[in-house]
Formats: sequence, structure tokens, C-alpha cells
Amino acid sequence: MMKVVVNEKCIGCALCAETCPEVFHMENGVAVAGPADDGWATPVANAAAGCPVGAIEAEL
Ligand code: SF4
Repeated sequence: MMKVVVNEKCIGCALCAETCPEVFHMENGVAVAGPADDGWATPVANAAAGCPVGAIEAEL
């Protein structure tokens, strides 16, 4: 399992939830990351790279 965290910089753009809904969902206007299997490393890395404010922290 990877540890994935959305930090307080999230501006709620929902990009991560759209690109990787298996791991990210929206709650009260911000993204929340669920537990992620190691198999999701690439989509999670892509979501982290695509986040406009660098709010996704992942230990891959
Ligand atoms: S892409 Fe970044 S700013 Fe946008 S909802 Fe996800 S964590 Fe928040």
C-alpha cells in the first residue's frame, strides 16, 4: 500500500478525482485520498504531477 495524502494546499479543482477516481474523491470541496495499492503508483504519480498546487503527497 502507498501512503497518499492531500494536504491543505488543495483548491478543490477536482482534477485528481477525474483522472484517478480509484484513489481520489471530493469531500466538502477538497480532495481526499483513499488507500492506494502499489499498482496505482503511476496514476497517483500522474495525479500528483498534474495537481496545480502540489497538494498531493505520495510515498511511492
Ligand atoms: S488536483 Fe490538487 S488541487 Fe485539484 S482537487 Fe486534486 S489535490 Fe486538490
